[in-house]
Amino acid sequence: MECIWCQQLIYPEVTWSTLFIPEKITPLCKNCQAELQPIERIDCFDCGRQYNEKATKGDVRCTDCQRWHQENKHYLTRNRSVFQYNKQIQAMITKWKYRGDYSLIEAFADQIQQYFQTYYNDLDENTIIVPIPLSDQRLHERAFNQAEVIAEQLPLPIHHLLRRIHGEKQAKRSRKERLAISNPFQLYQPTNQPVLLIDDIYTTGTTLHHAAQILKQGGCPTVYAYTLAR
Ligand SMILES: [Zn+2]
Ligand SMILES: [Zn+2]
Repeated sequence: MECIWCQQLIYPEVTWSTLFIPEKITPLCKNCQAELQPIERIDCFDCGRQYNEKATKGDVRCTDCQRWHQENKHYLTRNRSVFQYNKQIQAMITKWKYRGDYSLIEAFADQIQQYFQTYYNDLDENTIIVPIPLSDQRLHERAFNQAEVIAEQLPLPIHHLLRRIHGEKQAKRSRKERLAISNPFQLYQPTNQPVLLIDDIYTTGTTLHHAAQILKQGGCPTVYAYTLAR
């Protein structure tokens, strides 16, 4: 058995219990697993980030999220992420989505499921999952939509309610420019059920806020988000 990331051999530990119940095969070696930093403390209730420096006491909303409120664009009830954004998760996500290494989802699947149970065990039973779509062109280039692969790990029905009408080249724009451009999403179909949006990375939150806005304008009561890294 090789580590899915560094290809180092993994030797399963044999103990009394593993003689009877085979130990779950972990896709990552101990070193690679240790490079990933799961979020252990929610410092901003809105976006679910963990500050690496100590959070200011009583500061339950980070400055990014305060801005969403000030601008009256706060359509997202909350985001929760599995991992802190660091070099390791960045490298893994890059290989996973840009180089089409689909199988890397195995490295994240367990934690995606566990963290979902922790953060979202209070969801309404009618809640549906809406993965953030890629534009048709991107999907064609990439062969799979990473948001959809994350969504497939979760025990809720997936509904494709959104369509992306312009491209994803937003990363190259400044925050102000991103906010100024019109919403890149269109609704295929409105819903009156609560929605959990799924994406790989929460950076500024612009993409998820745009998606939440259009769902709410169509009658969706509550929009949450779940992302792999923040
Ligand atoms: Zn490894
Ligand atoms: Zn925040």
